[in-house]
Amino acid sequence: MATSSPIAIYFIALFVASSITSTMLAISVPPELTDNLHTDPGAIKLASIDYGRIIKEKPFAVLYPSSLDDIRTLINLSYSSSFPYTIAAKGQAHSTWGQAQANKGVVVQMSSLNSFRNGTGILISGDRSSGFYADVGGEQLWIDVLNATLARGLSPVSWTDYLYLTIGGTLSNAGISGQTYRKGPQITNVLELDVLTGKGEFVTCTSQKDTELFYAVLGGLGQFGIITRARIVLEPAKERVKWLRILYSDFSSFSTDQETLISTTGPSHKVMPDYLEGQLLMSQSPLVFYPQSQHQKITSLVNQYGIVYLIEVATYYDNKNEDKRVKQMLKSLKGFVHGFVFEKDVTYLEFLNRVHDEEIVLRKKGLWDIPHPWLNIFIPRSRITDFDNGAFRNILLKRNFTSSTVLVYPLLRSKWDERMSAVIPDEEDVFYVVGFLDASADDWETFDNRNKDILQFCVNGGIKFKQYLGHHATKEEWINHFGSKWNTFQQRKARFDPKMILSPGQRIFNN
Ligand code: FAD
Repeated sequence: MATSSPIAIYFIALFVASSITSTMLAISVPPELTDNLHTDPGAIKLASIDYGRIIKEKPFAVLYPSSLDDIRTLINLSYSSSFPYTIAAKGQAHSTWGQAQANKGVVVQMSSLNSFRNGTGILISGDRSSGFYADVGGEQLWIDVLNATLARGLSPVSWTDYLYLTIGGTLSNAGISGQTYRKGPQITNVLELDVLTGKGEFVTCTSQKDTELFYAVLGGLGQFGIITRARIVLEPAKERVKWLRILYSDFSSFSTDQETLISTTGPSHKVMPDYLEGQLLMSQSPLVFYPQSQHQKITSLVNQYGIVYLIEVATYYDNKNEDKRVKQMLKSLKGFVHGFVFEKDVTYLEFLNRVHDEEIVLRKKGLWDIPHPWLNIFIPRSRITDFDNGAFRNILLKRNFTSSTVLVYPLLRSKWDERMSAVIPDEEDVFYVVGFLDASADDWETFDNRNKDILQFCVNGGIKFKQYLGHHATKEEWINHFGSKWNTFQQRKARFDPKMILSPGQRIFNN
């Protein structure tokens, strides 16, 4: 090993200080690594902020890796030390509760691998008979994967609503959107992973080889290893999208029609949309999707019912007959308000990248880099009507949270893989995603308290929900979250990251 540079000595001193011991650490950090370790206030500040802007924990240092070896060395040093330090891979830090932070540890700024890849971060292979796939660096953004694959007439099959997220970040959660009910979450559309474990081992794993690590990492909240490459399933891309919003004045008709659309049997099966989500429309909801000429009539409907529910569907196409399919789909629906179906025709890219348009507007208004007290939960189908009554009508409406963006749409259990670490509600075939996606520059606690009331309402009513992208204050809450999966999760941690080095910001093992 090379002699330690001043920055390495400083770095070691910080570790010693943090481990509350006067023993000197007998490690020396190779200069090629220390050159990429930053401890300046700018780097530290950036690594202690995320999209949530609620938790701000400072690391000792930030690694801007110039190769995978840098990350491996960083992990090895910690793993082999008697005073291991924590390490968090940071994608875009689009988490909302400090999940990509490492208090007094080291944050790895994954985006800096981009220059090391030198344009090889997204490689497309395969053919028509055996299928196409892309080998993608864990640091890459989904928008870049989309652009690269579209250039070849191909596309990944499963998405998130927003595409400026990293492959490693979404695969550590699940990656869900309106395609999930049909294609499964992003984690079920991965063929192979390269992972650097918490022991510093570099492993290529699949559903056939090193399977335990493969299933652990998918939905594994960064606990078992750092994803450095994922092989993502591709399919031929369509060119255009019919994008509809269909309005409902009551929850029962709304959810019945949503479930008709996702049904894998019955007459509507042939006209299943490619994408299905849902939202609440309330008095302060923006109406940008709808033509100006329709705003007044929509506002009257909202005023009349307090909450209007909307089904958002999309069908992908590249021939002229798509209108027929859309008409057939609408025919299978029973309960929407006559005259309240709105349609747009956009390119495939415009549709998938739709949230970015909102981002541009919000950034201009200074409303992007502000606190986001988000709550995402999965609610079993059998209790979704109770949830509507208790959470939407009683808590949101009565307390005047009518500016909240609220998503609500059903998913099918059969599209998830139980062997993976991601957690969904037990037993029922259908469960609903409900996302309360608030932003507040000056009063995030009010929204957070409301979210706590919603969770308490579920607990009191015996609604067996699961949080998605969630945070839990205690280990007991995590054990409760994982339920029957906890033992496996714990055993996998002991096997792949026994010193509990990775992703401390999730607060599962580092509380
Ligand atoms: P980060 O926030 O940087 O990291 C998240 C976690 O993963 C951390 O624990 C981190 O340590 C770990 N991690 C990061 N990279 C790696 C890696 N390479 N290997 C192992 N662990 C790693 N999610 C959905 O599912 N569907 C949506 O529709 C959706 N929409 C969103 C819209 C917006 C505007 C935002 C801000 C977020 C949205 N998300 C959505 C949430 C998003 O999936 C998570 O924030 C996710 O963590 C991805 O963000 P990231 O890439 O910035 O990861």
